Amino acid sequence: KNSNESNDCSQSVKVVVRVRPPLKAENWDKNALNISQNTICVKESKNKNTDSKTFEFENIVFPDQNEDALFAQIKESVSHVAYGKNACVMAYGQTGSGKTYTMNSIIHKAVDKLRIIENAEVTIQCLEVYNEQVKNLILTDQNIKNPKDPMEGSEIKLKVDWAEQALEIINEAISRRTTKFTDCNERSSRSHAIYTLNFYTNDYHSKIQFVDLAGSERVGKSNVSGETLKEALLINKSLSALQDVISALENKQKHVPYRNSMLTKLLQPTLGGSQSAVNMIFNCSPSNESLNETVCTLALASRVK
Ligand code: ADP
Ligand code: MG
Repeated sequence: KNSNESNDCSQSVKVVVRVRPPLKAENWDKNALNISQNTICVKESKNKNTDSKTFEFENIVFPDQNEDALFAQIKESVSHVAYGKNACVMAYGQTGSGKTYTMNSIIHKAVDKLRIIENAEVTIQCLEVYNEQVKNLILTDQNIKNPKDPMEGSEIKLKVDWAEQALEIINEAISRRTTKFTDCNERSSRSHAIYTLNFYTNDYHSKIQFVDLAGSERVGKSNVSGETLKEALLINKSLSALQDVISALENKQKHVPYRNSMLTKLLQPTLGGSQSAVNMIFNCSPSNESLNETVCTLALASRVK
């Protein structure tokens, strides 16, 4: 897929599939989840039958590959930001598939790569979207005084020598996201985190957004109600709004439906347009218990590519 410069919505999305290594307590049955150079084959046992599905991908990061191999997939998009283009890097997948691990390493490597930007005013914004509500993850005097409007004052100007300060703020935001509540991992898996860096120079304004999406697992409707159901429905709503935006971009549709969720509204500047490179990392767990969700994630990834 080559982008067609004349169409403003021509950006194609780069799809990367990453299968993380198994954790200590997990079992990876290589017959059930078989990964080769460009294909992933999943065999699921359902009522005595074995259901086998094969997916093809151009870019797969294997369980034994490290963070450099992962970053190699997206570093070109990141570099473009130093030349006035925008970029978006997103991690999609079920809870526990490695989204946060992946995004955290990408953010650190990306900031390191963008250190070469010297003559720009650099700002940062770290937001969390939970139940369609936005929260500022950077604590400042302003948002302590006025917590009502999380967007007001959420864009923080960085020092000339910006990179270290950016990493400090992002690390703080990441820890604020996971340690504030006792059921911390619960909340962080049900919210989206969006980390944005802006570069303002005399020649251009460029922007890169890093997005750690809410867990994509489908909650069984039969055994949840109340808040949990509301959360699940809003996550579904925002992830499907994201899919709609991506498919509109891929199909070069004139109308891109950004306004259908808070997530897509906030990502509008870096999703689409010929000046932005969009990268979606589809994270999968290799464990047997996750095969169902892995199939869902791979099916979506192959629809996008
Ligand atoms: P998610 O954000 O999708 O819920 P996490 O990033 O928290 O998932 O990852 C779940 C667990 O797997 C964590 O313990 C994390 O350290 C580990 N993990 C994830 N990706 C990798 C990887 N590529 N290599 C080693 N461990 C990983
Ligand atoms: Mg996470």
